[in-house]
Amino acid sequence: MSDDSRLDELAANLADVRGRVDAACRDAGRDPTDVTLVVVTKTWPADDVRRLALLGVTDVGENRDQEAGPKQALAHDLPIRWHFIGQLQRNKAKSVARYADVVESVDRPGLVAALAAARDPERPMDVLLQVSLDGSTDRGGSLPEDIPELAELVEQAPSLRLAGLMAVAPLGEDPDRAFARLAMISADLLGHHPEARVLSAGMSGDLEAAIRHGATQVRVGSAVLGHRPRVG
Ligand SMILES: *Cc1c(COP(=O)(O)O)cnc(C)c1O
Repeated sequence: MSDDSRLDELAANLADVRGRVDAACRDAGRDPTDVTLVVVTKTWPADDVRRLALLGVTDVGENRDQEAGPKQALAHDLPIRWHFIGQLQRNKAKSVARYADVVESVDRPGLVAALAAARDPERPMDVLLQVSLDGSTDRGGSLPEDIPELAELVEQAPSLRLAGLMAVAPLGEDPDRAFARLAMISADLLGHHPEARVLSAGMSGDLEAAIRHGATQVRVGSAVLGHRPRVG
């Protein structure tokens, strides 16, 4: 990766995104160190994960097991936390539990059970419950009213650690409105599970709104990596 113009491109994009996060925190009266940047590397090769690690990125997100598993194997030497953020079938739980440090898309009891069984309790895995903000579970995510029961199930699994919530703003809705609802769901969860402090919300297009409403983690793909996928 010598004479690497891709490294320069990623460095410039990262500086941009970090600047946006800092500005949004300043505007919200929040400390920028309270917001973790997860760079979503789906569709981009392991070499980009390597470049991102060189640039100080500590967390990456992936949404397909078929892609994430081999990529993590190629980049397992890096000091990177791997977040699984995509819809997850039960039969993939075993594979994901091998390499993911965090699964952000846990949205139903069967998936909690599958992950709990797959993971070694000596090496507990962080779990975020994905909450649907559009009233439907079609695009993944649990209905808000089902979150308390899911949280209890995760708490009861020795191999899982309840870390917080994840959500995606519904298409076509003002993200500020959606993330305001999410903030209330998070406050409710924290009332019963004070350790579940992570709030994963905000992507390339709406990270400012998410930070205004308390996101502790933003998941940014295209603003860092660009729009042209390099691997399938
Ligand atoms: C792809 C993806 C992102 C990143 O989206 P960008 O708009 O490219 O920043 C964030 N969260 C989830 C769940 C995703 O699938």
